[in-house]
Amino acid sequence: MTSFITEITAPDGHKVSLNTGLFINNEFVAGAHTIDTINPATGEVITSVQAAEAEQVNLAVDAAHKAFYGGWKTSNPRERARLMRKLADLVERDAEDLVHLESMDNGKPLSNSRMMDPVGFVEHLQYYAGFCDKLHGKVIETKGKLSYTVHEPIGVCGGIIPWNVPMMMLAWKIAPAVCTGNTVVVKTSELTPLSALKIAELVKEAGFPPGVINIITGYGPKAGEALSRHMKVSKIAFTGSLATGRAIMKAAAETNLKKVTLELGGKSPSIIFDDVESVDEVVFWAHMGIFFNAGQACCAGTRLYVQEGIYDTFVEKFKALTLSKKVGDPFAADTFQGPQISETQFKRVMNYIDIGKKEGATCYLGGERIGSQGYFIEPTIFTDVGADMTIMKEEIFGPVVVISKFKDIDDVIAKANDTTYGLAAGVFTSNISRAVKVSNALEAGTIWVNHYYSASAAEPFGGYKQSGIGRECGEYALSNYTQVKAVKINIGL
Ligand code: NAD
Repeated sequence: MTSFITEITAPDGHKVSLNTGLFINNEFVAGAHTIDTINPATGEVITSVQAAEAEQVNLAVDAAHKAFYGGWKTSNPRERARLMRKLADLVERDAEDLVHLESMDNGKPLSNSRMMDPVGFVEHLQYYAGFCDKLHGKVIETKGKLSYTVHEPIGVCGGIIPWNVPMMMLAWKIAPAVCTGNTVVVKTSELTPLSALKIAELVKEAGFPPGVINIITGYGPKAGEALSRHMKVSKIAFTGSLATGRAIMKAAAETNLKKVTLELGGKSPSIIFDDVESVDEVVFWAHMGIFFNAGQACCAGTRLYVQEGIYDTFVEKFKALTLSKKVGDPFAADTFQGPQISETQFKRVMNYIDIGKKEGATCYLGGERIGSQGYFIEPTIFTDVGADMTIMKEEIFGPVVVISKFKDIDDVIAKANDTTYGLAAGVFTSNISRAVKVSNALEAGTIWVNHYYSASAAEPFGGYKQSGIGRECGEYALSNYTQVKAVKINIGL
């Protein structure tokens, strides 16, 4: 059998042994072709991985189908929980390998990866492991009938994930699915397959039966499309762009009407009132909200609305904090912002900056490429941005923020909601009634009050409007992965 094991050396000398095959039925197998994965900080190839097309997707789905009907569907919930906790323990054990792979493959600073990636993966596995034996139905009495409901797994669940937070996205697709007795085939982004492949090794080591968790990579229009069209896939969970979300819904509609949940983009507003206790603190959160992960987050706080009383102070302090943060080598200890993920994304973001300038917005800070190697962009602040300008309306998915001044509360709520998206929003004020009033009025799935970006496995996440369909995380996600059966007993009364 061909071996796909390779050794990867990170820029700091850390070595990781990695199997680059497709993980199907607990084995690493060959794909239809290979894909080079690039380090976005240098533009150099890290390694190449096996990539799936329809034939390999079929193999993975067949393995998952067999595993579902071969025992996982009716498996002991305590055993499922044990395996999930074991996987979490192994991820904790190998966290350093994982953070090195993630920072090389995605370009995020090593410090960020250490702070959130294996930690987040483990949290989600442990959280959902706790639900395995708590999936209860109800008892309902009607005239002459005693009914009870059972929450049953759906079958083979497909997951299609993006490149911005690869490990976390993998956890979101795996944990609620396997805890409820489903089996999964996850397709990673072709841009960031490495951490998922390392986790695949750990799935096997943890002792999951073959076929329960399958992890493949491949291009979207080939592997992703085959997964979303597959007749044996009963549910698909997707995170990524609006255009791909539409394609996946269409594929589901044209095939077996598989259930679809979508987590798409955003253009999230933050409303900052001039009664905030500390402008410095708000600046910290607003800065984090846009520039963390080089702005590559679906819920990034891309539109800041600042009340006129503190506008000038805010903008000045925001600029100062931005300038104090280092952009550069992800492996340097003091780096805050790494590169954009790819040349394509780099060009896309630079194009938006160009459009912003051409349409007449003021580029108050940044706006240029940094260096000539890798895909680094200066943190960029635009002011004087009209409501109809492209950079006010479209998701940029890069380190670009627009800051606007406001006076009136109703006016700013209308402006904040004037978007086709509705993923998240921030509200900053020391007035609790105002915080509640504005939170109630904002059309978004998550509202952060007096902070930005907190997340946990326990809280639901998802979008209003075109930011998506359904909720991931928390107890809410369980309904995506179960179907309800009512058993009605004639008790003849
Ligand atoms: P994308 O939607 O093209 O890719 C996301 C995933 O979908 C990848 O795994 C990809 O292979 C797969 N895919 C692509 N085409 C497919 C198809 N036809 N059928 C099935 N799967 C398919 O996103 P991208 O090109 O990586 O990024 C482009 C834009 O998407 C970004 O600029 C941003 O706006 C958005 N995005 C959003 C998120 C998020 O977290 N919501 C994450 C990444 C990207």
